[in-house]
Amino acid sequence: MSSVAASAGQPERTRRSPAWKRILLGPDEKMQLGISMCLLACSLYLLWFLIVGLVFLPYGMASPQLCYLYMGQELAACLVFYPLVRSGLSRRWSDPLLVMPQMLWANTALIAGYAASDQVRPVMLQTLCLVQVFGFISLKPRAARFMGVATIVMLLAMLPLAAAFGAPAFVLTDEILRIAATCFVMGLLTLQSADFARLRERVLRDRRELRRTLEDLRRISMHDALTGLLNRQAMQERIEDERERARRTGSGFCVALLDLDHFKRVNDGHGHQAGDEVLAGFARAACATLRETDVLARWGGEEFVVLMPDTSPGPAGLVGLQRLRAHLAERSLSEAVPALRTTFSAGMAASHPGESLAQLMERADQALYAAKEQGRDRVVVAPGS
Ligand code: GH3
Ligand code: MG
Ligand code: MG
Repeated sequence: MSSVAASAGQPERTRRSPAWKRILLGPDEKMQLGISMCLLACSLYLLWFLIVGLVFLPYGMASPQLCYLYMGQELAACLVFYPLVRSGLSRRWSDPLLVMPQMLWANTALIAGYAASDQVRPVMLQTLCLVQVFGFISLKPRAARFMGVATIVMLLAMLPLAAAFGAPAFVLTDEILRIAATCFVMGLLTLQSADFARLRERVLRDRRELRRTLEDLRRISMHDALTGLLNRQAMQERIEDERERARRTGSGFCVALLDLDHFKRVNDGHGHQAGDEVLAGFARAACATLRETDVLARWGGEEFVVLMPDTSPGPAGLVGLQRLRAHLAERSLSEAVPALRTTFSAGMAASHPGESLAQLMERADQALYAAKEQGRDRVVVAPGS
Protein backbone atom coordinates (compact mmCIF):
# COMPACT_ATOMS: atom_id res chain seq x y z
CA MET A 1 0.00 0.00 0.00
CA SER A 2 1.65 3.18 -1.11
CA SER A 3 -0.26 5.67 0.97
CA VAL A 4 2.33 6.99 3.40
CA ALA A 5 5.44 7.13 1.33
CA ALA A 6 3.77 8.22 -1.85
CA SER A 7 4.68 11.56 -3.34
CA ALA A 8 1.96 13.73 -4.76
CA GLY A 9 4.30 16.36 -6.20
CA GLN A 10 4.87 17.23 -9.81
CA PRO A 11 7.77 15.44 -11.52
CA GLU A 12 10.92 17.59 -11.50
CA ARG A 13 11.68 19.19 -14.83
CA THR A 14 15.19 18.42 -16.05
CA ARG A 15 16.97 20.64 -18.58
CA ARG A 16 19.44 18.84 -20.80
CA SER A 17 22.64 20.69 -21.60
CA PRO A 18 23.64 21.09 -25.28
CA ALA A 19 25.43 18.21 -27.04
CA TRP A 20 28.84 19.94 -27.27
CA LYS A 21 28.75 20.61 -23.55
CA ARG A 22 27.90 17.00 -22.74
CA ILE A 23 30.74 15.76 -24.96
CA LEU A 24 33.36 18.11 -23.50
CA LEU A 25 32.15 18.29 -19.91
CA GLY A 26 30.21 15.05 -19.40
CA PRO A 27 26.51 14.43 -18.75
CA ASP A 28 26.62 15.16 -14.99
CA GLU A 29 25.73 18.84 -14.62
CA LYS A 30 27.10 18.93 -11.08
CA MET A 31 30.56 18.08 -12.37
CA GLN A 32 30.50 20.33 -15.41
CA LEU A 33 31.87 23.49 -13.76
CA GLY A 34 34.81 21.56 -12.27
CA ILE A 35 35.53 19.75 -15.54
CA SER A 36 35.35 23.06 -17.43
CA MET A 37 38.05 24.45 -15.07
CA CYS A 38 40.18 21.37 -15.79
CA LEU A 39 39.64 21.92 -19.50
CA LEU A 40 40.64 25.57 -19.12
CA ALA A 41 43.82 24.51 -17.32
CA CYS A 42 44.55 22.05 -20.13
CA SER A 43 44.06 24.85 -22.68
CA LEU A 44 46.69 26.83 -20.78
CA TYR A 45 49.08 23.85 -20.86
CA LEU A 46 48.49 23.65 -24.60
CA LEU A 47 49.01 27.39 -25.00
CA TRP A 48 52.31 27.14 -23.16
CA PHE A 49 53.26 24.15 -25.28
CA LEU A 50 52.69 26.27 -28.42
CA ILE A 51 54.46 29.38 -27.05
CA VAL A 52 57.53 27.36 -26.11
CA GLY A 53 57.49 25.42 -29.41
CA LEU A 54 56.78 28.37 -31.72
CA VAL A 55 58.51 31.25 -29.91
CA PHE A 56 61.00 30.21 -27.24
CA LEU A 57 62.55 27.35 -29.21
CA PRO A 58 63.00 28.99 -32.67
CA TYR A 59 64.14 32.34 -31.22
CA GLY A 60 66.58 30.73 -28.77
CA MET A 61 64.91 32.24 -25.73
CA ALA A 62 65.75 29.11 -23.73
CA SER A 63 68.02 26.14 -24.32
CA PRO A 64 66.50 23.47 -26.66
CA GLN A 65 66.76 20.82 -23.90
CA LEU A 66 64.81 23.03 -21.54
CA CYS A 67 62.22 23.79 -24.25
CA TYR A 68 61.67 20.10 -25.05
CA LEU A 69 61.49 19.24 -21.38
CA TYR A 70 58.91 21.94 -20.89
CA MET A 71 56.85 20.95 -23.92
CA GLY A 72 56.88 17.32 -22.78
CA GLN A 73 55.72 18.36 -19.34
CA GLU A 74 52.84 20.47 -20.74
CA LEU A 75 51.74 17.73 -23.13
CA ALA A 76 51.82 15.11 -20.36
CA ALA A 77 49.60 17.34 -18.22
CA CYS A 78 47.04 17.59 -21.06
CA LEU A 79 47.10 13.85 -21.69
CA VAL A 80 46.79 12.85 -18.04
CA PHE A 81 44.61 15.31 -16.13
CA TYR A 82 41.66 16.07 -18.46
CA PRO A 83 41.11 12.44 -19.58
CA LEU A 84 41.20 11.27 -15.95
CA VAL A 85 38.68 13.90 -14.86
CA ARG A 86 36.41 13.74 -17.93
CA SER A 87 36.25 9.93 -17.96
CA GLY A 88 35.11 9.97 -14.32
CA LEU A 89 38.03 7.76 -13.23
CA SER A 90 39.06 10.31 -10.61
CA ARG A 91 35.49 10.73 -9.33
CA ARG A 92 35.93 8.53 -6.28
CA TRP A 93 39.22 10.11 -5.25
CA SER A 94 39.35 12.71 -2.50
CA ASP A 95 40.29 15.41 -5.03
CA PRO A 96 38.15 14.35 -8.05
CA LEU A 97 39.14 17.35 -10.18
CA LEU A 98 42.84 16.68 -9.45
CA VAL A 99 43.30 20.33 -8.53
CA MET A 100 46.17 19.73 -6.09
CA PRO A 101 48.26 17.51 -8.38
CA GLN A 102 47.71 19.91 -11.27
CA MET A 103 48.75 22.90 -9.20
CA LEU A 104 51.84 21.13 -7.83
CA TRP A 105 52.72 19.98 -11.34
CA ALA A 106 52.34 23.47 -12.80
CA ASN A 107 54.11 25.27 -9.93
CA THR A 108 57.10 22.91 -9.98
CA ALA A 109 57.50 23.47 -13.72
CA LEU A 110 57.11 27.24 -13.41
CA ILE A 111 59.65 27.56 -10.59
CA ALA A 112 62.13 25.28 -12.35
CA GLY A 113 61.61 27.29 -15.57
CA TYR A 114 62.14 30.51 -13.66
CA ALA A 115 65.54 29.33 -12.47
CA ALA A 116 66.57 27.80 -15.78
CA SER A 117 65.85 30.61 -18.25
CA ASP A 118 66.39 34.33 -17.68
CA GLN A 119 64.30 35.32 -20.73
CA VAL A 120 61.08 33.67 -19.57
CA ARG A 121 61.51 34.77 -15.96
CA PRO A 122 59.19 37.84 -16.08
CA VAL A 123 56.07 35.83 -16.98
CA MET A 124 56.71 32.92 -14.64
CA LEU A 125 55.85 34.65 -11.38
CA GLN A 126 52.51 36.06 -12.61
CA THR A 127 51.62 32.62 -13.98
CA LEU A 128 52.44 31.14 -10.58
CA CYS A 129 49.87 33.47 -8.97
CA LEU A 130 47.35 32.60 -11.71
CA VAL A 131 47.74 28.91 -10.86
CA GLN A 132 46.94 29.67 -7.23
CA VAL A 133 43.65 31.27 -8.34
CA PHE A 134 42.59 27.93 -9.87
CA GLY A 135 42.58 26.48 -6.37
CA PHE A 136 39.80 28.91 -5.40
CA ILE A 137 37.11 26.83 -7.09
CA SER A 138 37.49 23.55 -5.33
CA LEU A 139 40.30 23.25 -2.78
CA LYS A 140 39.30 22.56 0.78
CA PRO A 141 40.67 25.10 3.34
CA ARG A 142 43.51 22.79 4.44
CA ALA A 143 44.51 21.95 0.89
CA ALA A 144 44.47 25.66 -0.06
CA ARG A 145 46.81 26.46 2.86
CA PHE A 146 49.06 23.50 2.00
CA MET A 147 49.30 24.62 -1.65
CA GLY A 148 50.26 28.16 -0.68
CA VAL A 149 52.88 27.06 1.84
CA ALA A 150 54.30 24.44 -0.56
CA THR A 151 54.66 27.04 -3.33
CA ILE A 152 56.33 29.55 -1.01
CA VAL A 153 58.73 26.85 0.26
CA MET A 154 59.57 25.84 -3.35
CA LEU A 155 60.19 29.49 -4.31
CA LEU A 156 62.48 30.05 -1.32
CA ALA A 157 64.31 26.77 -1.89
CA MET A 158 64.84 27.69 -5.53
CA LEU A 159 66.86 30.84 -4.58
CA PRO A 160 69.98 29.14 -3.07
CA LEU A 161 69.74 26.22 -5.51
CA ALA A 162 69.65 28.49 -8.59
CA ALA A 163 72.52 30.56 -7.17
CA ALA A 164 74.56 27.44 -6.33
CA PHE A 165 74.03 25.86 -9.78
CA GLY A 166 74.80 29.10 -11.61
CA ALA A 167 71.42 29.81 -13.18
CA PRO A 168 71.78 32.25 -16.12
CA ALA A 169 71.72 35.98 -15.25
CA PHE A 170 70.75 35.18 -11.69
CA VAL A 171 71.64 38.13 -9.43
CA LEU A 172 70.79 36.84 -5.98
CA THR A 173 70.09 40.22 -4.34
CA ASP A 174 67.64 41.23 -7.12
CA GLU A 175 66.03 37.82 -7.07
CA ILE A 176 65.59 37.83 -3.28
CA LEU A 177 63.56 41.03 -3.60
CA ARG A 178 61.44 39.69 -6.48
CA ILE A 179 60.81 36.33 -4.82
CA ALA A 180 60.02 37.99 -1.47
CA ALA A 181 57.37 40.14 -3.21
CA THR A 182 55.95 37.05 -4.93
CA CYS A 183 55.87 35.13 -1.63
CA PHE A 184 53.97 38.05 -0.10
CA VAL A 185 51.35 38.03 -2.91
CA MET A 186 51.22 34.23 -2.73
CA GLY A 187 50.62 34.39 1.03
CA LEU A 188 47.71 36.83 0.55
CA LEU A 189 46.24 34.69 -2.22
CA THR A 190 46.54 31.63 0.02
CA LEU A 191 44.67 33.34 2.85
CA GLN A 192 41.96 34.43 0.39
CA SER A 193 41.78 30.97 -1.11
CA ALA A 194 41.41 29.34 2.33
CA ASP A 195 38.72 31.89 3.31
CA PHE A 196 36.90 31.26 0.07
CA ALA A 197 37.10 27.50 0.64
CA ARG A 198 35.65 27.90 4.14
CA LEU A 199 32.87 30.08 2.77
CA ARG A 200 32.12 27.56 0.03
CA GLU A 201 31.93 24.75 2.58
CA ARG A 202 29.51 26.79 4.68
CA VAL A 203 27.33 27.59 1.67
CA LEU A 204 27.26 23.90 0.70
CA ARG A 205 26.39 22.91 4.28
CA ASP A 206 23.61 25.53 4.44
CA ARG A 207 22.30 24.40 1.07
CA ARG A 208 22.18 20.76 2.23
CA GLU A 209 20.37 21.80 5.40
CA LEU A 210 17.93 23.95 3.44
CA ARG A 211 17.20 21.08 1.06
CA ARG A 212 16.55 18.75 4.03
CA THR A 213 14.28 21.34 5.66
CA LEU A 214 12.38 21.82 2.41
CA GLU A 215 11.93 18.06 2.09
CA ASP A 216 10.67 17.91 5.68
CA LEU A 217 8.27 20.78 5.04
CA ARG A 218 7.04 19.18 1.86
CA ARG A 219 6.48 15.87 3.66
CA ILE A 220 4.67 17.60 6.53
CA SER A 221 2.53 19.65 4.14
CA MET A 222 1.44 16.49 2.32
CA HIS A 223 0.71 14.24 5.28
CA ASP A 224 -1.77 14.08 8.08
CA ALA A 225 -0.04 14.32 11.47
CA LEU A 226 -2.29 11.88 13.35
CA THR A 227 -2.35 8.96 10.91
CA GLY A 228 0.73 9.62 8.77
CA LEU A 229 -1.42 9.20 5.64
CA LEU A 230 -1.50 11.59 2.72
CA ASN A 231 -3.75 14.54 3.51
CA ARG A 232 -6.68 15.81 1.46
CA GLN A 233 -4.63 18.30 -0.58
CA ALA A 234 -2.02 15.67 -1.50
CA MET A 235 -4.75 13.17 -2.40
CA GLN A 236 -6.47 15.70 -4.63
CA GLU A 237 -3.18 16.12 -6.50
CA ARG A 238 -2.80 12.34 -6.75
CA ILE A 239 -6.29 11.96 -8.17
CA GLU A 240 -5.64 14.79 -10.66
CA ASP A 241 -2.42 13.00 -11.71
CA GLU A 242 -4.36 9.77 -12.07
CA ARG A 243 -7.05 11.50 -14.18
CA GLU A 244 -4.31 12.82 -16.45
CA ARG A 245 -2.70 9.36 -16.68
CA ALA A 246 -6.08 7.74 -17.38
CA ARG A 247 -6.74 10.34 -20.12
CA ARG A 248 -3.39 9.55 -21.76
CA THR A 249 -3.48 5.77 -21.45
CA GLY A 250 -7.22 5.12 -21.58
CA SER A 251 -7.06 3.18 -18.30
CA GLY A 252 -9.78 3.56 -15.67
CA PHE A 253 -9.56 4.15 -11.95
CA CYS A 254 -11.88 4.22 -8.93
CA VAL A 255 -12.12 6.17 -5.73
CA ALA A 256 -13.79 5.04 -2.52
CA LEU A 257 -14.86 7.45 0.20
CA LEU A 258 -14.79 5.71 3.59
CA ASP A 259 -16.49 7.02 6.74
CA LEU A 260 -16.26 5.40 10.16
CA ASP A 261 -19.67 4.45 11.49
CA HIS A 262 -20.96 6.14 14.63
CA PHE A 263 -17.55 7.50 15.38
CA LYS A 264 -18.99 10.27 17.52
CA ARG A 265 -20.02 7.56 19.97
CA VAL A 266 -16.38 6.50 20.37
CA ASN A 267 -15.42 10.03 21.32
CA ASP A 268 -18.42 10.49 23.54
CA GLY A 269 -18.13 7.08 25.20
CA HIS A 270 -14.37 6.61 25.54
CA GLY A 271 -12.86 10.03 25.13
CA HIS A 272 -11.20 11.95 22.33
CA GLN A 273 -7.88 10.17 22.88
CA ALA A 274 -9.47 6.77 22.26
CA GLY A 275 -11.03 8.30 19.13
CA ASP A 276 -7.58 9.38 17.95
CA GLU A 277 -6.27 5.90 18.67
CA VAL A 278 -9.04 4.40 16.52
CA LEU A 279 -8.31 6.78 13.64
CA ALA A 280 -4.57 5.93 13.68
CA GLY A 281 -5.37 2.20 14.07
CA PHE A 282 -7.80 2.36 11.16
CA ALA A 283 -5.10 3.92 8.96
CA ARG A 284 -2.66 1.14 9.90
CA ALA A 285 -5.26 -1.57 9.30
CA ALA A 286 -6.17 -0.12 5.91
CA CYS A 287 -2.52 0.12 4.88
CA ALA A 288 -2.05 -3.51 5.85
CA THR A 289 -5.12 -4.87 4.09
CA LEU A 290 -5.68 -2.78 0.96
CA ARG A 291 -3.79 -3.60 -2.22
CA GLU A 292 -0.19 -2.48 -2.83
CA THR A 293 -1.30 -0.23 -5.64
CA ASP A 294 -4.09 1.48 -3.69
CA VAL A 295 -3.37 4.92 -2.27
CA LEU A 296 -4.98 5.94 1.00
CA ALA A 297 -5.49 9.41 2.42
CA ARG A 298 -7.25 11.00 5.35
CA TRP A 299 -9.89 13.16 3.71
CA GLY A 300 -10.85 14.90 6.95
CA GLY A 301 -12.30 13.99 10.38
CA GLU A 302 -13.18 10.28 10.29
CA GLU A 303 -13.33 10.15 6.51
CA PHE A 304 -10.74 8.46 4.30
CA VAL A 305 -10.28 8.16 0.53
CA VAL A 306 -8.83 5.22 -1.33
CA LEU A 307 -7.56 5.80 -4.86
CA MET A 308 -7.53 2.57 -6.88
CA PRO A 309 -5.55 2.95 -10.10
CA ASP A 310 -6.34 0.66 -13.05
CA THR A 311 -9.46 -0.62 -11.29
CA SER A 312 -13.06 -1.08 -12.31
CA PRO A 313 -15.71 -1.07 -9.58
CA GLY A 314 -16.16 -4.85 -9.79
CA PRO A 315 -14.88 -7.51 -7.40
CA ALA A 316 -11.22 -6.47 -7.92
CA GLY A 317 -11.97 -3.02 -6.52
CA LEU A 318 -14.12 -4.35 -3.69
CA VAL A 319 -11.82 -7.11 -2.51
CA GLY A 320 -9.47 -4.81 -0.56
CA LEU A 321 -12.35 -3.05 1.18
CA GLN A 322 -13.97 -6.39 2.11
CA ARG A 323 -10.63 -7.57 3.49
CA LEU A 324 -10.46 -4.41 5.60
CA ARG A 325 -14.01 -5.01 6.90
CA ALA A 326 -13.16 -8.57 7.86
CA HIS A 327 -9.97 -7.39 9.57
CA LEU A 328 -11.82 -4.77 11.63
CA ALA A 329 -14.53 -7.24 12.63
CA GLU A 330 -11.94 -9.39 14.37
CA ARG A 331 -9.99 -6.86 16.42
CA SER A 332 -10.22 -3.64 18.35
CA LEU A 333 -8.43 -0.55 17.14
CA SER A 334 -8.05 0.73 20.68
CA GLU A 335 -5.80 -0.89 23.27
CA ALA A 336 -7.69 0.99 25.97
CA VAL A 337 -11.05 -0.47 24.86
CA PRO A 338 -10.42 -4.05 23.69
CA ALA A 339 -14.11 -4.77 23.16
CA LEU A 340 -14.49 -1.89 20.71
CA ARG A 341 -15.26 -2.82 17.13
CA THR A 342 -15.08 -0.34 14.29
CA THR A 343 -17.06 -0.51 11.10
CA PHE A 344 -17.08 1.78 8.12
CA SER A 345 -19.34 2.64 5.23
CA ALA A 346 -17.96 3.39 1.81
CA GLY A 347 -19.10 4.90 -1.45
CA MET A 348 -17.19 3.83 -4.51
CA ALA A 349 -17.16 5.57 -7.90
CA ALA A 350 -15.34 4.88 -11.13
CA SER A 351 -13.96 7.89 -12.95
CA HIS A 352 -15.77 9.00 -16.08
CA PRO A 353 -13.84 10.56 -18.94
CA GLY A 354 -14.05 14.36 -18.82
CA GLU A 355 -15.49 14.36 -15.31
CA SER A 356 -13.94 16.82 -12.82
CA LEU A 357 -12.47 15.82 -9.49
CA ALA A 358 -15.34 17.54 -7.67
CA GLN A 359 -17.95 15.64 -9.74
CA LEU A 360 -16.21 12.32 -9.13
CA MET A 361 -16.01 12.91 -5.37
CA GLU A 362 -19.62 14.07 -5.32
CA ARG A 363 -20.73 10.74 -6.81
CA ALA A 364 -18.60 8.81 -4.29
CA ASP A 365 -20.15 10.92 -1.52
CA GLN A 366 -23.67 10.14 -2.71
CA ALA A 367 -22.83 6.42 -2.75
CA LEU A 368 -21.45 6.78 0.80
CA TYR A 369 -24.66 8.49 1.83
CA ALA A 370 -26.61 5.57 0.36
CA ALA A 371 -24.42 3.10 2.32
CA LYS A 372 -25.24 4.96 5.54
CA GLU A 373 -28.92 5.02 4.61
CA GLN A 374 -28.93 1.28 3.93
CA GLY A 375 -27.72 0.57 7.48
CA ARG A 376 -23.93 1.26 7.46
CA ASP A 377 -21.04 -1.26 7.48
CA ARG A 378 -21.20 -1.75 3.73
CA VAL A 379 -19.83 -0.54 0.39
CA VAL A 380 -22.13 0.99 -2.22
CA VAL A 381 -21.01 1.50 -5.79
CA ALA A 382 -22.20 4.76 -7.39
CA PRO A 383 -24.78 4.18 -10.15
CA GLY A 384 -23.29 4.28 -13.66
CA SER A 385 -19.81 3.33 -12.43
P1 GH3 B 1 -21.99 8.35 10.94
O1 GH3 B 1 -22.03 6.91 11.11
O2 GH3 B 1 -23.25 8.90 10.39
O3 GH3 B 1 -20.83 8.78 10.12
O4 GH3 B 1 -21.83 8.99 12.36
P2 GH3 B 1 -20.55 9.62 13.01
O5 GH3 B 1 -20.76 9.72 14.46
O6 GH3 B 1 -19.35 8.87 12.59
O7 GH3 B 1 -20.51 11.03 12.30
P3 GH3 B 1 -20.51 12.44 12.85
O8 GH3 B 1 -20.24 13.33 11.66
O9 GH3 B 1 -21.73 12.74 13.64
O10 GH3 B 1 -19.27 12.52 13.83
C1 GH3 B 1 -17.96 12.51 13.42
C2 GH3 B 1 -17.12 12.75 14.62
O11 GH3 B 1 -15.73 12.62 14.33
C3 GH3 B 1 -17.29 14.14 15.16
C4 GH3 B 1 -15.92 14.64 15.44
O12 GH3 B 1 -15.75 15.16 16.73
C5 GH3 B 1 -15.06 13.41 15.28
N1 GH3 B 1 -13.74 13.73 14.84
C6 GH3 B 1 -13.38 14.38 13.72
N2 GH3 B 1 -12.04 14.49 13.67
C7 GH3 B 1 -11.54 13.87 14.76
C8 GH3 B 1 -10.21 13.64 15.27
O13 GH3 B 1 -9.21 14.02 14.68
N3 GH3 B 1 -10.09 12.98 16.42
C9 GH3 B 1 -11.17 12.53 17.12
N4 GH3 B 1 -10.98 11.89 18.25
N5 GH3 B 1 -12.43 12.75 16.66
C10 GH3 B 1 -12.61 13.40 15.50
MG1 MG C 1 -18.22 11.83 8.61
MG1 MG D 1 -18.86 8.75 10.56
